[in-house]
Amino acid sequence: MATPRCREDRPGRAATGREGSRLTKKLFIRTYGCQMNVYDSGRMAELLAPLGYAPAEAADGADMVILNTCHIREKASEKVYSELGRLRPLKARRADAGEEMIVAVAGCVAQAEGEEILRRSPVVDIVLGPQTYHRLPEMVARATRAAPGRGIVATDFPIESKFDHLPAARTADGPSAFLSVQEGCDKFCTFCVVPYTRGAEFSRPVAQVVDEARRLVAGGAREIVLLGQNVNAYHGAGDAGDVGLAGLIRTLADIDGLTRIRYTTSHPRDMDAELVAAHGDIPELMPFLHLPVQSGSDRILSAMNRRHTADDYRRTVARLRAARPDIALGSDYIVGFPGESDAEFQATLALVREVGFAQAYSFKFSARPGTPAAALDDTVPAAVADARLAALQALLAQQQDAFNAATVGSELDVLLERPGRHPGQLVGRSPYNQAVHVAAPAALLGHELRVAISHVTSHSLAGVEAGTPDARAIA
Ligand code: SF4
Repeated sequence: MATPRCREDRPGRAATGREGSRLTKKLFIRTYGCQMNVYDSGRMAELLAPLGYAPAEAADGADMVILNTCHIREKASEKVYSELGRLRPLKARRADAGEEMIVAVAGCVAQAEGEEILRRSPVVDIVLGPQTYHRLPEMVARATRAAPGRGIVATDFPIESKFDHLPAARTADGPSAFLSVQEGCDKFCTFCVVPYTRGAEFSRPVAQVVDEARRLVAGGAREIVLLGQNVNAYHGAGDAGDVGLAGLIRTLADIDGLTRIRYTTSHPRDMDAELVAAHGDIPELMPFLHLPVQSGSDRILSAMNRRHTADDYRRTVARLRAARPDIALGSDYIVGFPGESDAEFQATLALVREVGFAQAYSFKFSARPGTPAAALDDTVPAAVADARLAALQALLAQQQDAFNAATVGSELDVLLERPGRHPGQLVGRSPYNQAVHVAAPAALLGHELRVAISHVTSHSLAGVEAGTPDARAIA
């Protein structure tokens, strides 16, 4: 992949649809970081449901709190320790009242820090890495019995896949569902912690993915977003040997009721011919691809160990556009990588101008402890990096606005995902991953609707109903 895209904190986003009146304990999960963490939080909530835990909206009053952390952010671990400091009085108050509050730290910070978390923050009962959360019920049972201050750490990379131990009865909690198909990364980009926190590349078997996808569709999902740190390196075991991402998408596209497939996040080197062809001939595969490039300079790409050049990227884009002329592209950029000269930054701007992006995420380089790039000393002065970031973001915003403005006057099929801020308004996604606002009855939530795009608002589109809702909506 590249740098995960969704960086906002997501309190309480772990509802699974399995909560019910028999559940009596409150579980609060705060999720930081990318879609993979959102997926993992949902699965942790499912694991704990049989133990009587139901999702709660706040840490105050919860019987268990999980911080599902991300290591991509600057000063990620310090932010986790601050959050743990805020939990301390809540836990003490519950202890005074004879009530329990189990505190667990999960995710990539847990993997990177391990025992250190227990040493610095005795409020923590459980530290668990991304590959061990299937053992959560057992850890909770042990934490309940353990003496105060005797925390449990599980940050190994087990031989057996956690997916073999997760509950099968998963259902969708909306029309668009995440599905993890691949984890870990063998690319070792010099700025990235993922190979250290998530471990080596691992792909789930095809049958397991298809089974989960069928359950999601039966539960109401119309769109599935296949997730992986390096998702297009997917090579899962199938009936007749290893299957690549294109083969997996072809199999999933046959599932009745599944109308949209996306995948994220990809590496340019793994855009093989089969996957490019899939964009041309699988209608369910949406015409938006997030394909991080990071820099337009070959010297910087090499220093990042990206294993592709700017021209390789250009050629991949050309192949994709030949297969699917309307494909829209997203990307990630890092500016101010150690040693980046002005000319090298200009090469990035040139690549952006040439390719044209519908959406993109750009960040200033910040060193992640333990990564090779953190040891580089030729740092770019902060003011220079700031100015470069501002220039790049202005160009990317211009391109996004132009892409959105070009859809005005056209009709787009929109998958309606949630109510809007105004009464009678629904919000959904276009095939190109744009947010679209439309006045429509709430009964159409979860269905596709053809919308005539009338105008552009900031980073989203607005329109009016233009056609008949899809068959399931009017059945
Ligand atoms: S090391 Fe892997 S996960 Fe990290 S940026 Fe590179 S390809 Fe993406």
